[in-house]
Amino acid sequence: MDKKYSVFFILRGFLWYLAPLALLGWLVGSFWQTLTIGLFALLVWHYYFHYKLVDWLWNRRALLPPSAPGSWSYIYDGIYRTQRRSQQRRRALARILRRFREASEAIPDAAIVFRRDGGLIWCNRLGQFYFGLKWPGDTGIRLSSLIRHPAFISYLQKGDFTDEIYLPSPVREDIELEIRIMPYSDDQFLLMARDVTQLRQLEQMRKEFVANVSHELKTPLTVIQGYLEMFDDDPAAMPPAMLQKAVKDMSGQSTRMRNLVDQLLSLSRIDSARGDIFERVVNVPDVLKRLQHDAERLNKNKQHQLVFEIAGQSMYGHEDELRSIFSNLITNAIHYTQPAGKITVRWRPVGDQMEFSVSDNGPGIPAEHMPRITERFYRIDKDRNSSKGGSGLGLAIVKQAVDHHHGKLTIDSVVGRGSTFSVRIPQELVVTEQS
Ligand code: ADP
Repeated sequence: MDKKYSVFFILRGFLWYLAPLALLGWLVGSFWQTLTIGLFALLVWHYYFHYKLVDWLWNRRALLPPSAPGSWSYIYDGIYRTQRRSQQRRRALARILRRFREASEAIPDAAIVFRRDGGLIWCNRLGQFYFGLKWPGDTGIRLSSLIRHPAFISYLQKGDFTDEIYLPSPVREDIELEIRIMPYSDDQFLLMARDVTQLRQLEQMRKEFVANVSHELKTPLTVIQGYLEMFDDDPAAMPPAMLQKAVKDMSGQSTRMRNLVDQLLSLSRIDSARGDIFERVVNVPDVLKRLQHDAERLNKNKQHQLVFEIAGQSMYGHEDELRSIFSNLITNAIHYTQPAGKITVRWRPVGDQMEFSVSDNGPGIPAEHMPRITERFYRIDKDRNSSKGGSGLGLAIVKQAVDHHHGKLTIDSVVGRGSTFSVRIPQELVVTEQS
């Protein structure tokens, strides 16, 4: 408060007002009347500024108070100063709140703040996206009425938030959420939810992968073990024809196991390969010529008509991975096409890009298998013992290696007519033409 303003200051002001009045009253000979009129005028003056103050406080929007003389200026200015201070404090608080909200929008999780009774206080944009909440529209409404999943409601009711829970998003069922609730301040709770769809899928894939590998290895091992048990009895007593068949089967099964392990190693190598595809130039025509010899050998029994049309371009990439792509697609075509079919292998420019393709006139792939055909261990003939069946890893390796080279694998297939597997190599990986 201003130092000038004190009881003494008030009394002095009052006396300064009364003294001239008293003198005037004494001079005109009506002392009391003059004094009464003067005091009445003072009362009207005070009422007037009292009215102006109330009018300013209730009806005016202006922050600045109306000007007032004398002691009223202290009251007006005091109120103005208090208002200014609380306005500054409000602004600072709004700034802090805005920063908190901006920070919580920046986190990649949904954040929801609610009261002990479940009433929604605030949620960020991801909270609105994952749970279909509206803010500020839903403020005060209980979470159990807004998120009506039975598991979530019983989780809230139990009130034990030590463990997280997993729920599908109530508005987007393809999103799996991990939800945690943390109490904070006196009666408030913070709910954090993050999208774990991919993690869960990976977890599922890992489990399936282990189960598949175990099954794949179990079949040949069971065959080999069966024969070994027969040998245990008395191998010498075994008819030679049977012995021959046993050795042939065991050898076949162990080749199958070795192929599987080779393919698994190949997959794991591509998995862990870093993006160094520009390090080496692969002479694709050379690789394909060597594969042509292998294919001709493999083709002895099937007697397909093999046609190789190879352009001269090389490309940047991993030689082993590219060989895997070419050889898996060629081998599949030879393997799955009925004898005396026609298989055409091409390496040719398509615009700025290069394309490797293998076309056959084999059985084709039914449309329902197409979406999953490149998954690990997926095959059309589900019988693991079938003579036709491989491990179901070939196309998975092809897809993985194509992805590693930023290429695109396309499969065109018509049941009964044949299939064409094409791999597009991006222009950036293509090296100038060789003679
Ligand atoms: P596999 O080791 O069983 O050959 P792949 O991943 O290479 O595994 O192939 C998956 C499935 O796709 C195979 O089981 C086969 O049924 C089908 N397939 C692959 N290539 C061809 C093709 N050229 N013609 C017909 N079917 C094919």
